[in-house]
Amino acid sequence: METAPTPPLSLWRAEFTDAATEQAYRADVQGRMARQLRIALWVWAALLLLFALPDYQALGGSRVFWALLGYRAATALLLLMAAQALRTRPHLAPQGRMVMCLEMAGYPFFFLFLLLRPEMRTWTIGMVMIVNLSLFIFVPGRVALGVWVALAGIAGSVLTLLLTGTALSLAPGLTLLLTLPAVVGFISANRLQRAQRQEFVVRSRLQQANAALQDEIARRTALQAELQRQATTDPLTGLLNRREFGRRFALDLARAERDASPLSVVLLDLDHFKKINDQFGHAAGDEVLRQVARLYHESFRAIDSVGRMGGEEIAVLLPGATLEQAAVVALRFAQRLAATPVVHGGHTIHLSATLGVAQRLPDENVLDAVLHRADQALYAGKHGGRNCVMRAQPDGQFLRHAPEGG
Ligand code: GH3
Ligand code: MG
Ligand code: MG
Repeated sequence: METAPTPPLSLWRAEFTDAATEQAYRADVQGRMARQLRIALWVWAALLLLFALPDYQALGGSRVFWALLGYRAATALLLLMAAQALRTRPHLAPQGRMVMCLEMAGYPFFFLFLLLRPEMRTWTIGMVMIVNLSLFIFVPGRVALGVWVALAGIAGSVLTLLLTGTALSLAPGLTLLLTLPAVVGFISANRLQRAQRQEFVVRSRLQQANAALQDEIARRTALQAELQRQATTDPLTGLLNRREFGRRFALDLARAERDASPLSVVLLDLDHFKKINDQFGHAAGDEVLRQVARLYHESFRAIDSVGRMGGEEIAVLLPGATLEQAAVVALRFAQRLAATPVVHGGHTIHLSATLGVAQRLPDENVLDAVLHRADQALYAGKHGGRNCVMRAQPDGQFLRHAPEGG
């Protein structure tokens, strides 16, 4: 599979050159970045206060000590306020400007310390070196903005050193010394920023591919269900088609044989259906078939299979039902059908049906054989005046049940 190239990153800033992609990246990382930045700010504030101890050892309770402590406390407070602000405004983290300002505000402390305690310049230079590295590596921000902070720190430190009596000839060496950690920090942070953005691109693409795949799976599952429905049901009534009905019969038969349980079939044919078509039109006939199918769904158990055998003949498989039980069920349905006229196009169409009932005989393993006997019973019912349930007895006789009022 061909993969699209990673959107270009600028060499210096290590950010996406495309503004929209950069925006999306920042929105994605802002929560994590704000958390990291808050931790950095807390650690920074704690260290700042902790260093009041060596101040005290060096300066005692002098005014200089208290002035420095005031500076430390004010800066720490600023850092903690910024950490708090990030809780409600995490988008400030990837912008990098806030942290840039805080870092800028941190440097003058060292300049002040150099002015006050020039004899401790080695210590201060070491601290500035650590800060120049940390502002790239430890404090998450934007590498390009970090450069300006480092430059300001280096220039300020060298100037202050010169002001406090350091020989000018030492300036190039000191500048290099202070710059070295900043360069190392810049390159490392640049690499990290690059890697994070590349990872973001890969992750986004994976998510997109995954979403597309999920959509495709859902589409195919729906399609499969639809194909399955079309292959197994009759389009007009939604009842099982003859082939699916045969498959259900085979399943019910296997269970009946295993459990030695009865299995019965009810076959229904509407009475004088041609007349309904002739009198009210074919569409009315279709509507009648749909309503009868609905009535079937409401009248039988979930384990009973209802299939349209063709025309207006509907069959039901009743697993576990004896001939008598199936006849009772069929009779109840006939009564329900008679009590539920179909209203179509302003006409009220009264319905009746003739139903043939047969129970599978031992060794009767073919659907057509059972259906044939049910059909014979039905035929006998039609001849006997319709609107009835006719039982196919095992001895080949028929037994008629008429619904109330039939
Ligand atoms: P009987 O009481 O003897 O059953 O009389 P009948 O008029 O119902 O006769 P029969 O069962 O033989 O007629 C079936 C009719 O059903 C024939 C056909 O016009 C009609 N039919 C079959 N399939 C459809 C269908 O999908 N829609 C409609 N509207 N009519 C159908
Ligand atoms: Mg009929
Ligand atoms: Mg018929």
